[in-house]
Amino acid sequence: MKAWYTTLLVVTLGALFPLSAVAQEPVRILACEPEWAALAEEIGGDDVIVHSATHGRQDAHHIRARPSLIAKVRLADIVFCSGAELEVGWLPVLMQRGARRIVQPGQPGHIMAADHVEVMERPEVIDRSLGDIHPSGNPHVHLDPRNIATLADVLANRLARIDPSRSDAYRERLASFQSRWADAMAGWQKRTERLRGMKVIVHHKAWPYLLHWSGLKRVTALERVSGIPPTASHLAEVFELARNSGTKVIIRAPFEPVDASDWLFGKTAIPVVELPFTVGGHPEAQDLFSLFDVTLTLLEEVQDRP
Ligand SMILES: [Zn+2]
Repeated sequence: MKAWYTTLLVVTLGALFPLSAVAQEPVRILACEPEWAALAEEIGGDDVIVHSATHGRQDAHHIRARPSLIAKVRLADIVFCSGAELEVGWLPVLMQRGARRIVQPGQPGHIMAADHVEVMERPEVIDRSLGDIHPSGNPHVHLDPRNIATLADVLANRLARIDPSRSDAYRERLASFQSRWADAMAGWQKRTERLRGMKVIVHHKAWPYLLHWSGLKRVTALERVSGIPPTASHLAEVFELARNSGTKVIIRAPFEPVDASDWLFGKTAIPVVELPFTVGGHPEAQDLFSLFDVTLTLLEEVQDRP
């Protein structure tokens, strides 16, 4: 009799609260940059709570390990960053302040994008005395959309491992995202055809993945050493290169100092374009899809100028 009641109770409760409706703790993801937060929202949907340590108008090389971030990292089930030392000035400090084992290096909750893609511009000799902030190669891997697809797979796998009861939901969202992303990439690839070979000067070497994917050519950078403001003698060299190379545009990110690029524009009349760089870096770049859409539109507008 008791067993019968128990069965009835289980069946009744099961009908009232089907498994999918039982409140489960969301997976907490701390992203270091807005692009990874956006990807986490695509793959995690309602099953995750995502916080980005930086916003689209902040330079992720240089933020403070402030108390609100320490509180976030303590709760995190996943820490999702660019890696390759982009966050070396603040992420290790955060991690030492009570981050759980699951997000430590080698654990499923530790995702560094640069560990999963081919890193460009690895220096042959690391000389930190120069102040180079890219000693492990270029960390800005998100601006090649193929890398976004790779990281979508990585993230979905990690979510399924950390939260197996909802692994089907993660796999479904991944499949949907990859299908939409492949369609979008095919469209973008077409649009890059007429941009190929366009010569650009950049402020910081933040764009090699975008340039490599889209076929743009970097003439030089206003920062001779990444992270070090340009010197007068280097600017004189950049000016000579700009005059003699057929450079079409000077590219900077929203959070970069404007003085060097404005100076070069003043001397050469080569237009300066502020590309979004990441989600939130332009009013219309509010997700990963519009990030690439807006970036290409801004470059096309320059290409169309006489
Ligand atoms: Zn950088």
